[in-house]
Amino acid sequence: MSDDCIFCAIVSGAMPSEPVLDRGSVYAFRDIAPAAPVHVVVIPKAHISDTRDVTPEHGQVLAELLMAANEVAEAEGLGSGYRLIFNVGPDAGQTVFHLHLHVLGGRPLGPMASR
Ligand code: 5GP
Ligand code: ZN
Repeated sequence: MSDDCIFCAIVSGAMPSEPVLDRGSVYAFRDIAPAAPVHVVVIPKAHISDTRDVTPEHGQVLAELLMAANEVAEAEGLGSGYRLIFNVGPDAGQTVFHLHLHVLGGRPLGPMASR
């Protein structure tokens, strides 16, 4: 838990969110500003700032994160395709410095550079 981290506040329940999946060490919720018809954010419950802070000890939680993202996509009807995105650092558009995986889909997503 990190003070003044909005996603830690979401995990603790101090900040409301719309849950999609809550299992083990990961939590998934709907993005407040969706960039696609389906836009879910999957996070580890424990605070990790971004992918650059990942170590081998995070192996289990990262596997859970990816499996949760795939399960969310399936449950949201994205079987024909979806995009999983980690934004890393300000130039990539990272605004929340608690590791999170975006699950985007529900429309043709276009070239990578656009989102
Ligand atoms: P980033 O830009 O850091 O990769 O992604 C952060 C995402 O978190 C953004 O898509 C933004 O809309 C979303 N977000 C920021 N604050 C909140 C919040 O309080 N609640 C929810 N549900 N999403 C948030
Ligand atoms: Zn955090």
